[in-house]
Formats: sequence, structure tokens, C-alpha cells
Amino acid sequence: MDERLERIGRLARVARGLEREGAYNGAKLVRAALDSELIRYAEAEAPSGGGRAAEAADALVADIGADLPAGLAPLIAATAAPVRAGRTIPLADAPRCHVCRTCGAVFIGDEVPVDT
Ligand SMILES: [Zn+2]
Repeated sequence: MDERLERIGRLARVARGLEREGAYNGAKLVRAALDSELIRYAEAEAPSGGGRAAEAADALVADIGADLPAGLAPLIAATAAPVRAGRTIPLADAPRCHVCRTCGAVFIGDEVPVDT
């Protein structure tokens, strides 16, 4: 595995372990390092240009769309055409998403269940 991804995974594991023990202020510090590493990795590896970004989105949905949280794959697939054409993606086509920090469930839109 890519050494950078190994570090990202390690940071994520340590942060989650601290959160599990209620040490959120400690986890916050580790998550800062995690976010930094993730951003730098993505910046180095991200496709450049609308055509390549759209191609990457299409390939992502084709490869792992069935494993993505419910509802995300069609929304991601719909981003390829506007990106390929150099158009913006309106908020109506890309609704807000919330991720539960405890279980990782993804909620699309404004409705966030209270009991998850
Ligand atoms: Zn949850």
C-alpha cells in the first residue's frame, strides 16, 4: 500500500480511538494532521482538467458505486457531464450531505435522523 495512505489510515485509527474514549480534544489534534495529509495526498493524485475529472467520477461510480452510501452514486454520476462541459453543478443537483461521526452513515439533503 502507498505509504501516504498507510499514514492516513493510521491517523484515522488513532483519532477514532481517542474519540471512542471520549478524548475529543485529543482527537481534534490528530484529525488536523489527518486532514492535512489527506488534502496533500489528494492534491498530488487528483486528475486535472474537466475531461479527466469527469472520467474519474464515471470510473468511480462504475467501480465502487454499488458500495457507496445509498443515493450517492447517481448524484456523483450526474456531476460528470457538467464537469466535462465546464459548467457548474447547481446546489439542487448536489444536495447537502451529512456524515454521522459515530457510525459513518451518510444523509443526503436536510433531513438528518435524530436516532442514528
Ligand atoms: Zn450514526
